Amino acid sequence: MCGIAGFLGPGAPRVVYELLLELQHRGHEAAGIAYLLGSRFALEGGKGLVYEAIGVHRLPASAGLAVGHVRYSTSGPYGRLYQPLIVDAGGVYLAVAFNGNIVNYRSVAREHLGGLRLDWDAWVLAALLARLYGEEGSLADATRRLYEVLRGSFALVAASSRGELLAARDPHGIRPLAYSLGDGYAAVASETAALEALGFKPRELGRSMMLYCDPSGHCSVEQAAPPAEQKTCIFEYIYFARPDSVIDGVEVYRARVEMGRRLARIDDVTPDIVAPVPDSGRAAASGYALEKGRPLLEVLYPSRFRGRAFILPPGVRVERVAKKYGILRSAVRGSRIALVDDSIVRGSTASRIVALLRGNGAREIHFRSASPPIVCPCMLGIDFPRPSELVARGRSVEEIRRIIGSDTLLYNTVENVRAAVGIGVCDACFTCRYPRLVERYVSEFTRD
Ligand code: SF4
Repeated sequence: MCGIAGFLGPGAPRVVYELLLELQHRGHEAAGIAYLLGSRFALEGGKGLVYEAIGVHRLPASAGLAVGHVRYSTSGPYGRLYQPLIVDAGGVYLAVAFNGNIVNYRSVAREHLGGLRLDWDAWVLAALLARLYGEEGSLADATRRLYEVLRGSFALVAASSRGELLAARDPHGIRPLAYSLGDGYAAVASETAALEALGFKPRELGRSMMLYCDPSGHCSVEQAAPPAEQKTCIFEYIYFARPDSVIDGVEVYRARVEMGRRLARIDDVTPDIVAPVPDSGRAAASGYALEKGRPLLEVLYPSRFRGRAFILPPGVRVERVAKKYGILRSAVRGSRIALVDDSIVRGSTASRIVALLRGNGAREIHFRSASPPIVCPCMLGIDFPRPSELVARGRSVEEIRRIIGSDTLLYNTVENVRAAVGIGVCDACFTCRYPRLVERYVSEFTRD
């Protein structure tokens, strides 16, 4: 998963920088901004958070076109790569950034790029766009042809040294993408909340939709290819996106609260208190507590500055989970606690928190997952592609409970989370049924 942003208008690099700060939750590994200076792109970026990777004082106020990216790697090696990528499209340069996974990138490299040995899907996408641009002469026409070839999840932003800006979303709409158009500017961001934070009025790009601004600055939105069945990633609602974002017309916070409410309805246990696993378990926990009529108490206190454990590279992740929480002992001691998290992926966070609460005198711990068991790998942009990492795969709920160490364990149902979102979603990590256009390529996608 990653975040992308783009801006056409005065002060573009700094606007993109601000948008990336608002999208920081979508990637902590690396960040970059490409901005147009004369007829060339300059690139600013590297490892780390936005403010670590990009020297804001070096971003020129004069540049009028920029695209940017925050990286959470789901393809390519950890820690060494960042976007945007800059490619030569026959004398015109393109700056390209995307969020998602191109599941057929090896076939694309073989069949459309003369067997080029590229082992990262972002390189394949950028190289293909450059080739098509060379043949078509505009980002809009090149992107229309891109849809014929690429399979996977992609929310894409690109700019050309001729002054074009483009944003496009895959046919199933798996990853979110929003934009804003106004007097003399066009803004693009992965999530509506990022645009709103900067005062822009956001709109969403639908499935196979494309925003294109030509070199004169005229912008239009069009259907670039036939849309496929709506399959927005359900994990955007469960964990990934900001709660104040709206994705395909559904407010993320509202969906999370509804998941918690529906989970409470199938739960026989009535706890003394309901405690969220911060931060992403909070909204589901409040829905659960509302439905149960029990008090919602924050008993775990993470440092605000450590970042999200789930989207960190594996080695760093374990260490940070261990150090992450302080505890409110007075509320924990002697209590029967319903501990609500958004999901259980590897089980490492859950077992450490349960041990922490037990060590601080909790009487009973009832672990509640707002999502169903995750049993299949995601090849579409969330980093749990290795089946062996999924604690629920091949195990019964009782076996997982023993690993976690809680008194009881309850998962939400697939029907409940679908109903909580209320639109067509990809829920393949629970059902192993991938969206139609990608299913035959899923087995071909492996991470090097
Ligand atoms: S498999 Fe799961 S995480 Fe991946 S896109 Fe589908 S719903 Fe999202």
